[in-house]
Amino acid sequence: MSDAETLFEKIIAREIPADVVHETDRTIAFRDINPQARVHVLVVPKTRYRHVAELTEADPALLAEVLGTAATVARLEGIAESGYRVVFNTESDAGQTVFHVHAHVLGGEQLGFFGS
Ligand code: IMP
Repeated sequence: MSDAETLFEKIIAREIPADVVHETDRTIAFRDINPQARVHVLVVPKTRYRHVAELTEADPALLAEVLGTAATVARLEGIAESGYRVVFNTESDAGQTVFHVHAHVLGGEQLGFFGS
């Protein structure tokens, strides 16, 4: 990983605050600062990869852990039954702004269709 550190490394190191909802040895989940749904939590692997494609290639077991943490977050937030969405924005056309891979877990309301 060659490019500059992102703010998620600072959150993982507890150098800047975050509203952490769940943590495992290899993942951390915290509330998005600019929520796009009633529930909007980011699940971040503590090891940095640029995006989900890089994570998948380098460490598929860690990708599975990220998805497992997303499912745990949904349970903890009470949206596992009503439904939720897991999104990985990948590069600029998708709107990725933080280049440390993260899953958005969105729910708690009827979600609209998305695209352009
Ligand atoms: P991306 O656009 O898919 O890269 O998602 C980055 C997300 O990080 C956005 O939804 C931002 O609102 C969120 N974000 C940026 N800074 C912070 C922060 O300090 N705490 C929590 N979420 C943040």
